[in-house]
Amino acid sequence: MSKISENLRLVKLRIENAARDHNRAHQHIRLLAVSKKHGAQSIVEAYNSGQRDFGENYLQEALGKISELEAYDIVWHFIGPIQSNKTRAIAEHFNWVHSVDRLKVAQRLNDQRPAGLPPLNVCIQVNIDDEASKSGITPATLDELAEKIEAMPNLQLRGLMAIPSAADPQPAFAQMQMLFDKMRDSQRFAHCDTLSMGMSGDLELAVAHASTIVRIGTDIFGARA
Ligand SMILES: *Cc1c(COP(=O)(O)O)cnc(C)c1O
Repeated sequence: MSKISENLRLVKLRIENAARDHNRAHQHIRLLAVSKKHGAQSIVEAYNSGQRDFGENYLQEALGKISELEAYDIVWHFIGPIQSNKTRAIAEHFNWVHSVDRLKVAQRLNDQRPAGLPPLNVCIQVNIDDEASKSGITPATLDELAEKIEAMPNLQLRGLMAIPSAADPQPAFAQMQMLFDKMRDSQRFAHCDTLSMGMSGDLELAVAHASTIVRIGTDIFGARA
């Protein structure tokens, strides 16, 4: 067994254990393999072990792999910061975008999504710790952006994403869970079913706080160069 397939097995086991500890069905937690800074060969290894969802942060790097792996039925997720001059390529080549954090970017993704492709799945990134170094909107302006995205025909608003700060992430996870519950319970967002949070170091805590997509890089592919 390759290292990557063994790592995948262990990460899935962690998801199953965390789900069981919190009375959740592990089938409701999707594993996104974050392949940034790793080559197409690593993606193929994970793919051959059954992995289909892959996350990328850097557009140019991602486009190379996407074109190289055209023959594979991979679901591509863009999870990095978005410059507005990059939206066209993102709208054309990805299935999901987790890092939508302003109206201008949402509007451009909607306008640039090619006709003939299904709506682009998007999550709104929330800057839950209000860190200057991180993308994301503040909780106070979330609702307004969500309503506008909900009305865009070529985007499908799926939920929220956050990267809680590593220092003391528990309060931020709890706050994200609350924001997500509120959004879902409002029933104003027809396709809201996704809370994207949890990385290699805090997967269990994320699952404890209702995460539905965990984004795991290091613990699948190893340390990044
Ligand atoms: C790199 C990255 C991850 C994966 O982080 P690991 O700690 O390597 O698991 C997840 N989410 C985002 C947004 C990232 O940039």
